[in-house]
Amino acid sequence: MAWYRKLHWQIIIGLVLGMAYGVLAAANGWAQFTSDWIAPFGTVFINGLQLIAVPLVLASLITGVASLSDVRKLSRIGGKTIAIYVGTTAVAVVIGLLIVNVLRPGDQLPEDARVRLQSQFAETATEREAQAESVGERGPLALLEDIVPSNFFSSASSNRNMLQIVFISILFGVGLIQLEQKQARPILDLFESLNAVIIRLVDLIMLVAPIGVFALIARTITDLVGGGEFSQVFQLLGALGYYSFAVVLGLVVHMSFTYLLMIKFFTPIPIRTFLAGIAPVQLVAFSTSSSGATLPLTMERCEEKLGVSEEVSSFVLPLGATINMDGTALYQAVAAVFIAQSLNMGIDLTGQLTIVLTAVLASIGTAAVPGAGIIMLVIILQAINVPSAGIALIFGVDRILDMLRTATNVTGDATVATIVAASEGQLNPPNLDESADKIRTHA
Ligand code: ASP
Repeated sequence: MAWYRKLHWQIIIGLVLGMAYGVLAAANGWAQFTSDWIAPFGTVFINGLQLIAVPLVLASLITGVASLSDVRKLSRIGGKTIAIYVGTTAVAVVIGLLIVNVLRPGDQLPEDARVRLQSQFAETATEREAQAESVGERGPLALLEDIVPSNFFSSASSNRNMLQIVFISILFGVGLIQLEQKQARPILDLFESLNAVIIRLVDLIMLVAPIGVFALIARTITDLVGGGEFSQVFQLLGALGYYSFAVVLGLVVHMSFTYLLMIKFFTPIPIRTFLAGIAPVQLVAFSTSSSGATLPLTMERCEEKLGVSEEVSSFVLPLGATINMDGTALYQAVAAVFIAQSLNMGIDLTGQLTIVLTAVLASIGTAAVPGAGIIMLVIILQAINVPSAGIALIFGVDRILDMLRTATNVTGDATVATIVAASEGQLNPPNLDESADKIRTHA
């Protein structure tokens, strides 16, 4: 296949052109034109992906669970999945903490930049603090209450309720297993067809991915520059450059060591095949900053390119998109310590351990939408007694870091899905099969 027909190259082309256009638009004051005539294509692309997320999870999880021979298997897969999710998130936080404590980016923030940033973003910081307040007030078992809905349609009416959809589908699937074949078949056939259609829809939506990505990036850049000057953006990037570097370094280390080593040691998939399989997923996550919107593509690529069984992917991935956010947790740890350092506040060992615990929990509670991570950061700051208004310091670069942490989040989901599938004997990588066939034919 010619290289430019591969999905990830098409998306990269869209991304690069979008960046170039965005810079041009920002420099020439075309922000209004961009928001009127370009940005809607990005919104349409994200909406398209979000549109199919609920029916996809519903159909694939119901058929997946109903195909299980016994329910015990489901709890085994569930236990394993959650344990690996929490474990990898804790590793991510520790990597973030090590880097931020060694590099100490907060010490590098000049006093005048700190004062300027605090006043420039004070208002937005107050808004986010208010949003975090409602989350912070909830009881310890609130998550459990949230998972079990009282009305199917209200759950299905918002993609934020993905955990509820996961719960409903599992319950429904378990009910189906217990029916007689004759009774279960029609419903199962219906969901199997629905599932097949939606997988086709993912392909159709991805046809416009390069255009969608172009529009999303162009808009992000014009929004970032806003009415200001490029010099202001560079000033911001300069002041927060060292902090951003610490976050990016952490994400790169986590992606290239934790995930790739896990793939290497726990699955038969070559790292190259894994990376080629999920490259479009990472690029779409990067452009949309939403693991929720990326979910349909994550599921499709894991099944079709990595050979994760539907049974595993339909359970592990929606759960991951909602609760597994390693990139977010790592960023939250770095940001919390950075803010403390900039305010000349030391964080002792107890504080650091508190960050590990709260960042793991906060990332679980972070919604899979753009900019959600910084809201939950407020809760971490409160736990370590650092003024939460300090988030004003990092707003300027948050949009960019959001793109990178979301790409990390979806990579984590795909890694865990592949490992769980391999451990359950439910991984049939298409390429490996081909090469195995070739080997057989040659023999
Ligand atoms: N945008 C991230 C996601 O969807 C969440 C965050 O803000 O960290 O995965």
